[in-house]
Amino acid sequence: MIATRFRLTSLTRFGVLFDMLDPDFDPAKLEVILFPNPMLRYQAKPVRKVDLRLRKIIQRMFDLMYEHRGVGLAATQVALPLRMFVMNPTGDQGTGKEFVMINPEISRPRSNEEAEEGCLSLPGLHGNVVRSKTIRVNAYDRSGNEIKADFSGFEARIIQHETDHLNGTLFIDRMKEGAILEMAGELEALTTDFESRQRTGAIASNETWQALASDWEALYC
Ligand code: ZN
Repeated sequence: MIATRFRLTSLTRFGVLFDMLDPDFDPAKLEVILFPNPMLRYQAKPVRKVDLRLRKIIQRMFDLMYEHRGVGLAATQVALPLRMFVMNPTGDQGTGKEFVMINPEISRPRSNEEAEEGCLSLPGLHGNVVRSKTIRVNAYDRSGNEIKADFSGFEARIIQHETDHLNGTLFIDRMKEGAILEMAGELEALTTDFESRQRTGAIASNETWQALASDWEALYC
């Protein structure tokens, strides 16, 4: 605990992050992180308990997803190393169906189709990705109820994209090499921006992100 306390104190200059592990942690402080933040490459760990704080975090993830006009958001995209994501295929609050999937497992992939994808962590970038047309998903919702259902088309695509995030995989990793090369300039611009913000201290160091991830795992995994 002493180590954690020290770490939290040393993090105060990063403002947004310093009190993530406080029991009164305000989920409103969570924000969508951008490529190439190392947490987007993190192998998220299974969630072992869902408490009030985690449910508040899930609500914040929905709010961020709607705010950024997305249809899905994985925990690693808000720098949490936990296997869970939220989605609403309509992307509109109040319409469509909201899903929370904790510890999702995909099985029975059937036939492929290619379609364009984007990602809130890679703003402005889009590219074609081949995904399974239909899948079966086993997961838990935020109340701990088991989800076991088949999904197809756009819903199946979102689930595969978000589950990829939990394994540190981004849609650009699944694009054809030629198409990736076409967006090299944009990827480099994101990288330059991220690195310069890390240098000025506006974004935490890679070691700090790793330390925070370990602390969250100690709480929930
Ligand atoms: Zn994404």
